[in-house]
Amino acid sequence: MAQMQFADAERLHHAYIVSEPDGEKCLELARELAAALVCSSDGPVPCGVCAACRKVREQIHPDVITIRRDTSRDGRKKTEISVDQIRAMAADAYVLPNESPRKVYIVDEAEKMNFSAQNAALKLLEEPPRGVYFLLCTPNPGSLLPTVRSRCAVFSRNSGDQEDPELRKKADEFLRALAKGDALELMSWCSANETMDNRLAPDFFAQLQSRAADLLCGRDREPGLDREALIMVTELCQKCMKYLRVNVSCKQIFALLAVEAIAGDGKQRKNH
Ligand SMILES: [Zn+2]
Repeated sequence: MAQMQFADAERLHHAYIVSEPDGEKCLELARELAAALVCSSDGPVPCGVCAACRKVREQIHPDVITIRRDTSRDGRKKTEISVDQIRAMAADAYVLPNESPRKVYIVDEAEKMNFSAQNAALKLLEEPPRGVYFLLCTPNPGSLLPTVRSRCAVFSRNSGDQEDPELRKKADEFLRALAKGDALELMSWCSANETMDNRLAPDFFAQLQSRAADLLCGRDREPGLDREALIMVTELCQKCMKYLRVNVSCKQIFALLAVEAIAGDGKQRKNH
């Protein structure tokens, strides 16, 4: 089966643009998401009380690393995040995490990455080491290179204002079917949507991914999917968006979505 082959050939990757008009709030939101990724609770994440959550809050978690503009000798902040900083981050990303199974890099004021820095980040966003997440904080995602943007899911408290209610409804249907673990319902949902317009599909996957991100950082608890399932959904969305960019048809992409969602769901149930 063609879809099985291209599913297996893919590496998973995780990159988000975290967007808020206020820089401090943006950073807070990124930390919330980082805490959800490294939280050690078996229940809803971030629990806010485990050692990992506390360390993220106190900004001392060794696996949650913040990249920001350097300070020059006169004590002033430099105007840009340099390519050297991004290269150092890239090298560090290949070092295994200390305490958590995951590693999270938060880039504060990501829009301050200069052109070469953004280009250097591209490869990392495209093929990061396993278990490594990048959260690019910026009030204005439009200020990042389109090539950077296309590799990231946008995660924003305001995303609700611009979202298409129809796509949101579809994303919720999919998540509910997944939460139920009903393979037949997932399959029929996917085949009912395989005729989706190829131009609309990227927006759908962006919507689905942003819903998963919302659930992941505990801003919404319904429909009761756990962290592993939500991470699987974000990975799947990135994968589907990548295939859309190379003009794989919606029919094949929704078939992939059905196969992988069911396979991933089965794997998690076994592990619990
Ligand atoms: Zn926790």
